[in-house]
Amino acid sequence: MRFCFGPVPSRRLGRSLGVDILPRKTCNLNCIYCELGPTKTYTCGRAEYTSVSEICREINEVIAGGADFDALTITASGEPTLHASLGEILACARALTDRPLTVLTNGTLFVDPAVRRDVAPADVVLPSLDAALARSFRRVNRPALCVDFEGIVFGLESLRKEFTGRIWLETLLVKGVNDTEEDLTALRKAYARIRPDAVHLNTVARPPAVSWARPLIGRELEEARAFLQQGLDVPIEIVVDTKRRLAEGFHPLLEREILDMLLRRPMRRDEIADLFGCGGDAVARVITGLLAQGRVREEPFEGKTYYRAAEDI
Ligand code: SF4
Repeated sequence: MRFCFGPVPSRRLGRSLGVDILPRKTCNLNCIYCELGPTKTYTCGRAEYTSVSEICREINEVIAGGADFDALTITASGEPTLHASLGEILACARALTDRPLTVLTNGTLFVDPAVRRDVAPADVVLPSLDAALARSFRRVNRPALCVDFEGIVFGLESLRKEFTGRIWLETLLVKGVNDTEEDLTALRKAYARIRPDAVHLNTVARPPAVSWARPLIGRELEEARAFLQQGLDVPIEIVVDTKRRLAEGFHPLLEREILDMLLRRPMRRDEIADLFGCGGDAVARVITGLLAQGRVREEPFEGKTYYRAAEDI
């Protein structure tokens, strides 16, 4: 499969059938916590980066093959709203499934009415907003020069007015970077303007693009959540890994599928075992083989060992 992957257990979406619609790491940001590594194609230009007909054909094939999923998620190894035919891709997916359609996005392009129109067929849009102060935005998200910082909150506000589905806004806090009281106060004001259905608070949980991006510990996250929630009627919750187990036997344990997943994001052995519904010993055998062949590498983070596909390095 070139575009579809999973279903993967998602903290927020259950079993999510992912559709990755862009060439690897095409983005208008270069976030310090990005688990995909540094941005390769740094652009704000919307274009036909991949073929809509090929994407639709593949979604159709996966669904016709009996894939069992809770949500179909349009995502990218980068920023999916950069695809000029996002609307067409969503319309195609809508025609193929009645499961919820979701879009994971960095939320920077909704100032463009065409992007807001494109996501209209989705049931849930999950944009990010990590900083509402320009200085912190530059530090945590490292935007391309073409990104209109002032337009981001305005764009999300406009999306709220026009979009009939749900908006779950995500804020990822990096210790000492975008978690000061000033940052949180500005974020709270932005939430009040945007009025999402929920705010999901997150922190660095996988090997980041830069080694110095550190997570908040549980108590710090809870304090940030309580501070952000003051006087705000939008629910704010801390999102945590569900480690949801997929149906036994949905995925055969194949080296290629594990590699495919590790190409998209670094994972721990226990997460792989959880994802594929198989025992830790079987995963250990496959990973040992892949390490010996130089096709994956180990990456320590916060006292845990993650594995990343060598093609990703
Ligand atoms: S985290 Fe998302 S928005 Fe940030 S650089 Fe990576 S792909 Fe782009």
